Amino acid sequence: MALEGLNEQICNCHKCRLWQGAKHAVPGEGPTNARLILVGQNPGQEEDATGKPFVGRAGKFLNKILAENGICREDVFITNIVKHVTPNNRKPLPDEIEACTPYLTAQLETIRPKIAVLMGAVAAQTPRLQGIEYVVTVHPSAAMRFTKMRKRLAEDFKQLRKRL
Ligand code: URA
Repeated sequence: MALEGLNEQICNCHKCRLWQGAKHAVPGEGPTNARLILVGQNPGQEEDATGKPFVGRAGKFLNKILAENGICREDVFITNIVKHVTPNNRKPLPDEIEACTPYLTAQLETIRPKIAVLMGAVAAQTPRLQGIEYVVTVHPSAAMRFTKMRKRLAEDFKQLRKRL
């Protein structure tokens, strides 16, 4: 399915409770033919306010990591495994992840990137499709807080550049 149709479904989704507390769904953004997809956990407050993924603090940090490794954000499709903000930014519950994951699978099937980077343990639950390489790394929010994780994220993106 084309991304516009999927976006519409995501924006009208009531498959779990999360839409009730959200201002906007955040389907994700980027080119339909992106070679790289980045997957986070769920939108935060700023993403909920704007409908755009990774525009808050973690997003600014991610932009820096991308720029440092010569990856242009505009060339990347950026999304989350869960498309609505969660109450107090809590971890999404298993039934919320289950309800939302088919949208991510459909995005992956449509875009067919070379590589999908799953950032954090929740995103790491993304179902694997044949023909796509998956890289599991740490979440940028964790990397902002812990030096060891920052090094891991930086190293994983450095390796990525060579594989794209
Ligand atoms: N954290 C995420 O996992 N996703 C966003 O879009 C923003 C912050």
